[in-house]
Amino acid sequence: MTRDQILTLKPDRKLDGAVAHNVMGFKLNVREVYICPECGWETGDLETSSRCQACWANGDRVTMSDEKESVYDFKPSTDMNDAIQVLQKPEIMDRFQIGLYPTSFGKWIARPFMPGGKDCAVQADSPSEAICKSVLLAVLGV
Ligand SMILES: [Zn+2]
Repeated sequence: MTRDQILTLKPDRKLDGAVAHNVMGFKLNVREVYICPECGWETGDLETSSRCQACWANGDRVTMSDEKESVYDFKPSTDMNDAIQVLQKPEIMDRFQIGLYPTSFGKWIARPFMPGGKDCAVQADSPSEAICKSVLLAVLGV
C-alpha cells in the first residue's frame, strides 16, 4: 500500500484488514451470517429455524434477519479498545511509541514519540482512525 492509499482509507473493513494483516499478523475472521436484531446472536444457517435460538431460550420469539451480513471482531479503526491493542503491539510500543493527541479543532493526531523513521504523524476525525493510519505508515515505512 502507498502512503496516499493509506491516508485516503475510510475507517471500515479495508482499514481494519490492513492493520490486522500488516501490524498484528493475522487476517480478519470475516463470517457471513444471519443476525438476531434483538440480541446479536448469529448463525450461518436458517434452515432449521427462522427464530433466534438465544432469545428462544429466554422464551422470546424473535425472527432472525433474513439477509446475511459480513461480520468480524477486530475493528481498530472504529473501536478504541482494539486500537489500543495495536498501540501495545511490541513492535509499535518499543520501536515507534505512537501517541495520541486531541486538538482544539476537533481532529485527532497520532504520531511517534521516538525519533527516526519516516514521518508517520497522521491527523484524522477520530482517535482510532488516526492510530490505524499512523501505525500503518510506520510499519510499512511509506
Ligand atoms: Zn436473539
